Amino acid sequence: MSSFSSNDTLGLTKNVNSLFHIKPFKTEIVWRNVIIFTIIHYLALNAFTMWDFRVFAFHYIYGWVGAFGISAGAHRLWCHRSYKANKKLELLLLYLNTIAVQNSVIEWVRDHRVHHKHSDTDADPHNSKRGFFFSHMGWLLCKKHPDVKKFGSKIDMSDLMNNPLLRFQHKYYIPLILLISQIIPIACTIYLFNTTVYTSFCFSMNRYFMSLHRTWFTNSFAHIGTWKPYDKNIASSDSKFFGTICFGEGWHNFHHVFPWDYKVSELPLYRYNFTIAFIDFFVWLGWATDLKVASDDMIRKRVLRTGDGSHPYSIEAAKNKIEFDIAQNVSSLCWGLGDNDMTEDEMNGIKTLHPKSQ
Ligand SMILES: [Zn+2]
Ligand SMILES: [Zn+2]
Repeated sequence: MSSFSSNDTLGLTKNVNSLFHIKPFKTEIVWRNVIIFTIIHYLALNAFTMWDFRVFAFHYIYGWVGAFGISAGAHRLWCHRSYKANKKLELLLLYLNTIAVQNSVIEWVRDHRVHHKHSDTDADPHNSKRGFFFSHMGWLLCKKHPDVKKFGSKIDMSDLMNNPLLRFQHKYYIPLILLISQIIPIACTIYLFNTTVYTSFCFSMNRYFMSLHRTWFTNSFAHIGTWKPYDKNIASSDSKFFGTICFGEGWHNFHHVFPWDYKVSELPLYRYNFTIAFIDFFVWLGWATDLKVASDDMIRKRVLRTGDGSHPYSIEAAKNKIEFDIAQNVSSLCWGLGDNDMTEDEMNGIKTLHPKSQ
């Protein structure tokens, strides 16, 4: 992150510099998690020694569709509320989410909302200020900083706690992941390809290994990059590479500025953002509605006020010496639609596509 003066408000409506102070804290390793993740990585790599393309392909595709349960489900639907889904789509996303085994949606969303609300501070579960390894996977190998619990308990989770499907997944999470993430795919590969339980289990861990690291890239690499068209003062950055391999979640500078935008980017191209394609398909089916996007005017004003100069709006403004009214549409730190800290300008700048009434 670039340096800034104590009077700088980072382009936000309130001064949050005090939050960036890292307090002295002794990291406590959770050895149980270290052992579990070591075994997962060992089994995942062991799969390559018993190579069977059919079993690998089955698990890879199963994990690939499961990734939408994180990107389109836990992330864009339940955490940021960037669109609405009917019960059929919620059920499908919950099944896909359970394949991914990244904690119940309720736990995942609490961590992610506090990440957005207090990014790169002690209250951020995977605070990138504590180093690359910590933000990538180290945060899961040690006890949470007290600020994560303190500020996490203040995050509004009422929308999720009032959802019976999510409460069900949370309550029966262990039997559900055993069934959906392990027993069903392993039984299918044994039936279809006559493989052994151990071989299929190793490929299942290989799928899990790839899914975890893909998600973790957005917490590590996406917080150390330098491409920041929307806000140069925050750590999160855009990346075409991670946008593609992380199902569109790598447009992280845009995402931290406009977290309630269902596209997580301005780009219309599906190849850089598979999750848009997934959600748009369910819009076509009539299962997804009320998609939130940032208006062009809102994006332009934010780009000119806090961007790093790489956005076409910045380049055009510099070339033509155009002066915009950049005093409006200021954005506060928020976790998504429904956050109490959203400003009126922010609310007015949001467009709704495919409202339910249509
Ligand atoms: Zn982030
Ligand atoms: Zn997010």
